[in-house]
Amino acid sequence: MLETFLKQKFQFDTFRKGQKETIQSIVEGKSVLSILPTGAGKSLCYQFPSYYVNKGQTVIVSPLISLMEDQVSLLRRNGEKSVIAINSLLEKRSRRFVLNRLNQYRFIFISPEALSQEEVLHYFEKLTISLFVVDEAHCISQWGHDFRPSYLALKDIKQRLGNPLTLALTATATEDVKRDIAQQLFESETFVEVAQSVNRENIYYDVVETDDKLSYLEDFLMEKEVPGIIYFSSKKEADRVSQYLNNCLPYTVQSYHSDMSSEDRIRIQEQFIHDNIRILCATSAFGMGINKGNIRFVIHYHLPNSLEDFVQESGRAGRDGKQSLSIVLYQSGDENIHFFLQEQTYQEKQDLLFLENKSQTDRQKFSEVMTKTQKKWLQQIEENQTTWEDYKQTLMTKKRQRELKIYKMVDYCQSSGCKRDIIQHYFGESKSGNLTCCCHVCQTERPEINIDKVSQKRVETSLNVKDKLEKMFFLSISSDI
Ligand code: ADP
Ligand code: MG
Repeated sequence: MLETFLKQKFQFDTFRKGQKETIQSIVEGKSVLSILPTGAGKSLCYQFPSYYVNKGQTVIVSPLISLMEDQVSLLRRNGEKSVIAINSLLEKRSRRFVLNRLNQYRFIFISPEALSQEEVLHYFEKLTISLFVVDEAHCISQWGHDFRPSYLALKDIKQRLGNPLTLALTATATEDVKRDIAQQLFESETFVEVAQSVNRENIYYDVVETDDKLSYLEDFLMEKEVPGIIYFSSKKEADRVSQYLNNCLPYTVQSYHSDMSSEDRIRIQEQFIHDNIRILCATSAFGMGINKGNIRFVIHYHLPNSLEDFVQESGRAGRDGKQSLSIVLYQSGDENIHFFLQEQTYQEKQDLLFLENKSQTDRQKFSEVMTKTQKKWLQQIEENQTTWEDYKQTLMTKKRQRELKIYKMVDYCQSSGCKRDIIQHYFGESKSGNLTCCCHVCQTERPEINIDKVSQKRVETSLNVKDKLEKMFFLSISSDI
């Protein structure tokens, strides 16, 4: 019985929605695409089969170093020693050491970029992979946010690995995204789809129209004694607002974005998880897969650029099931920044077409003035992972799709209809009954979220993360095998 094993191994009394169907299929040797909301317990869907079947390696393709680190330390804390993360933080020397001993690990986390490297893939080909997991699988799709071209290589990689049993996990997938995932990961096989509603009953959705977001935040946060995230579209703004709030609030506010070093980001994430930092002013670089139950509110200072992003980010509130809050601070015209950025990205990609009929030497000449993204795309084309024709086609379609997504988000803010209804409708679901605590359209009064207060702490300690990481990777490697 799967339930007995769940209790024995994980000390959980029951499966959460979607977990059992996913696990049952995996155990029966069927590949699965599992779309379960944030906090539903997707990690269990690969951890359980690994112990239950108890042979071979579980390889987990994960998009972020911080996310891998989080999962590895969680597994270690639960007594699992045969777990490793292979990413840029692993030094060359220890990398070789680990790669030579891959078959001694139960769980191997790896980024798609690392797995695409020939010298790395070569070691993986020798493994008996019992389950190939793609966590945050929406990253595969060019319609998903944070599209990463390396994800396109997974199709070939999977083949090179002998088409192992596959589990794709994500919290949000529209029809477009689902199609892309299926095409990239399940082209040559049938798979089971397990999907749960995107509906998060314990989140109350609010949109606040204001032309003074800063004052609003100050008032709102003054009386809040619980952890929360404020999302920004700009790193500069995240820094600026964080600094401002830090000066006027009696507790720690910290910014988080991609200009910070990996070490700093891991340190901040850890301090936030342990309630040493109460409020984070972050860009979308923060939070994917983060396992912190007591985030009571997520505020969007800027308009998210799609409902997918919005649902992913607001969904980080209330993973413990308790009442939580999502607020979008909206000022008419906020969307213009997205249209502007969208146009810029488009232009950047469009400019690359200049190189289409140029010789290799010419291309080399231009490489100095090319942006990082342009180089990445050119590499994809030169390595035959995509063609110029596809590139052009995608460019156009993607532009249109992106604009549409921004309009949908504007709709969410401006519409006088139920917010939850708009979200569910967008993901192809029908409204799931009336809730007593739904959104500001259905009930004007906001729910109480000052539950489980955290104490006021100022962060004094600065963990030496570098030491910690080295300790984690080196010591555990030498003592575990
Ligand atoms: P996500 O779906 O967002 O990836 P996680 O796998 O990180 O979620 O799990 C979120 C939390 O839920 C974790 O703390 C995990 O231990 C807990 N959890 C997972 N499955 C169960 C279960 N069946 N019963 C109780 N708690 C669970
Ligand atoms: Mg997860």
